[in-house]
Amino acid sequence: MKAERIDGKAFALALRTRVAAGVSSFRAAVGRAPGLSVVLVGDEGPSAVYVRAKEKASAEAGMRGAVHRMPAEISQDALLALVADLNADDRVDGILVQLPLPSHIDATAVLTAIDPDKDVDGFHPLNAGRLALGERALTPCTPLGCLMLLKAQLGDLAGMEAVVIGRSNIVGKPMAALLLAESCTVTIAHSRTRDLAQVVRRADIVVAAVGRAEMVRGDWVKPGACVIDVGINRVDAGGGKTRLVGDVAYDEVAQVAGAITPVPGGVGPMTIAVLLRNTLAAAHARAGLAALEI
Ligand code: NAD
Repeated sequence: MKAERIDGKAFALALRTRVAAGVSSFRAAVGRAPGLSVVLVGDEGPSAVYVRAKEKASAEAGMRGAVHRMPAEISQDALLALVADLNADDRVDGILVQLPLPSHIDATAVLTAIDPDKDVDGFHPLNAGRLALGERALTPCTPLGCLMLLKAQLGDLAGMEAVVIGRSNIVGKPMAALLLAESCTVTIAHSRTRDLAQVVRRADIVVAAVGRAEMVRGDWVKPGACVIDVGINRVDAGGGKTRLVGDVAYDEVAQVAGAITPVPGGVGPMTIAVLLRNTLAAAHARAGLAALEI
C-alpha cells in the first residue's frame, strides 16, 4: 500500500481564501475589518519568524493586524496592562500572546488575563473548559487544523479508534477533546505510556505531537490508518545542512498507512490559517453575527 499524501498546504490556502471572503462579508455587514493583535516579547528566534508570518497572513486576509513588539525585559505588570488595553479596544477581535514568554513572566497569568472572547489561540482556561465540556469554544489552532484535515480525509469520524501521542495543553489534550467530540474512541499516549507501539497499532487515526524525530515507525501503524504528524524537528542532513522532519518516519509509514501528512507541508500551514479563521469567528461572535461555519 502507498498512502495518500494529505496536502495541508493546499488545504490551508483554500481555508485562507474562504476566510478572506468571510472578512469581506464581515466588513460589509459591520463597517470595519476584523482585528488581530499579536504581542511579541523579545524580538528574536523562531517566535519572531512566526509573528512575522502571522502579520503577513492577517494582512493578506484583509484583517486589521497589529503587532506589539515589547522588550524582553518588560515587567509582568506592563504586559498585563497591554493585555488590558487590548481587551478594552473594541476594534480588536483577537489577541495572541506569542509563547514562550521569558522566564520572569508568569505565562498562565498573562493567558488568563486575555478576554476569553478574544482568545484566538484558545489557551484561556475558560475556552479549555468549554472544549472539555463539548461546548462551542475558541479552540487551539494546531489541533483544530488537524481535525479539519481528518474530516476532509475521512468524513464522519464516529466510532474510530484514535491515538493521540503527546499530552500538551497546546496540542495533545485539545486534540483528544476534539476527537472525543467527534465520537472517536480516544487514547492519549505520552512519555510514560507502556508499549507505545502496541497502543498505536490499534489506531484508525494517529496524531503524533511529541517533538522526537521520526519516532513513529512503519510497523507501529495499522494498515490503512490515517496519520497526522504535528512534530517539527530539525535534524542534521550532512554537509553542514539541516532539514525538517516530523515525529513520524514518513517513508516507512507511507508504505502502510492509508493517508499521511508530510513535514513540511502538512499540519504546519494549517496553524496560521486556523488562527485567521478563529479571529473571524471571534469577530462574528463579538458583532452578534451568526456563528462562523468555516
Ligand atoms: P510538548 O513538549 O509540550 O509535549 C510533548 C509531549 O510528548 C508530552 O506530552 C510528552 O508526554 C510526550 N512525549 C515525550 N516523549 C515521548 C515519548 N518518548 N513517547 C511518547 N510521548 C512522549 O510539545 P508540543 O508543544 O505539544 O509540541 C509537540 C510537537 O509538535 C513539537 O515538535 C512541536 O514543534 C510541534 N508543534 C507543531 C505545530 C505546528 O504548527 N505544526 C504547533 C505546535 C507544536
